[in-house]
Amino acid sequence: MKGLYIHIPFCKEKCKYCDFCSIVSSYDKRKEYVENLLKEFDLYGGKYDDIETIFIGGGTPSVLDIDLLRMVLDKIKSLINVERVIEYTVECNPGTITEELADLFLESGVNRISLGLQSTSDRLLKVIGRIHSYNDFKESYYLLRKKGIKNINVDFIYGLPGQTVEDIEADINEITKLNPEHISYYSLKIEEGTKFYQMYQAGEIEEIDEEIDRAMYHITIDKLKALGYGHYEISNFSKPGHESVHNLKYWRCHEYIGLGLSAHGYLDGYRYSNYYDFNEYYNSLSSNEKPILDSSEISGEDLLLERIMLGLRLREGISIAELNQEFDIDFLDIHGSEIKKHEEMGYMKIKDGRLFLTDSGFDISNYIISKFI
Ligand code: SF4
Repeated sequence: MKGLYIHIPFCKEKCKYCDFCSIVSSYDKRKEYVENLLKEFDLYGGKYDDIETIFIGGGTPSVLDIDLLRMVLDKIKSLINVERVIEYTVECNPGTITEELADLFLESGVNRISLGLQSTSDRLLKVIGRIHSYNDFKESYYLLRKKGIKNINVDFIYGLPGQTVEDIEADINEITKLNPEHISYYSLKIEEGTKFYQMYQAGEIEEIDEEIDRAMYHITIDKLKALGYGHYEISNFSKPGHESVHNLKYWRCHEYIGLGLSAHGYLDGYRYSNYYDFNEYYNSLSSNEKPILDSSEISGEDLLLERIMLGLRLREGISIAELNQEFDIDFLDIHGSEIKKHEEMGYMKIKDGRLFLTDSGFDISNYIISKFI
């Protein structure tokens, strides 16, 4: 069973930390994009029968004009039996959700909304260049609830310039009053090409101190766990039964179709990425070709590496028997001494045939995972 990801590369304004493929544009540009995107859907005819999850991300899908968004959602409905889709998510920004939009989501089969909040502090929202206040978020959240959306994810970032441990505590106190089903907490990375990168180079902002960053991560984990959220992936928490089925596909190396500018996909044993440039994307589609910039077959060894790297991000970890059988290896023979060393240090465990990171292993996950490569 596959997933489907669709990229909408538009935003109202560019956030200062953002290096995602998204631009601020006119209606005509957005329309041209959607018309091309619909052509791309048709190039994957016959591949949609076993779609189990859909994720429309970006950018900000909810800044698409309602007529354009309807074109995308109708196209999906014409190709996929959305009643059989178990998780259908649209990413939205607070302040961009209207009653009409919520109605459109519901009639199109959307059953999960992912809201980018990032912080409940209006001071910090301004620092990072978000278009909304915390109040805007609450209005959007309650509107979605009133309309009957029962599965909501809220995205946060920690390690923001000027953010304190008290800000993180305030985030969690606020958010738990709302009780979303799913919460993502990512650490800020100052990426090249962003406004923050320029500011960092000019000495206007600093990266957060490593110790404070870790303290924020631990407070988040402890508080969310105490509130009944399972820490099922390094940066993701959910109420029982609300783990993101779509994102689990990425971490479990299941296949998914990726459509849209810069989208990535994994299909028929190949990982591919689409063009990042609008004109190149349109040119391919005008010749009826998939707008793929790069594609590579994932061989047994590459797949094994991916399974280890991504699987160890998950609390469930990896099944040793499955890897042995699938790749015809003796996993413990290859990695036994590395595992033993990390088990003794309390970073890893094997239980019921699964290898996984402990809480302290999650803390230095990049380092440990690198030891298996
Ligand atoms: S809303 Fe999301 S995609 Fe758009 S600029 Fe901000 S972080 Fe980037």
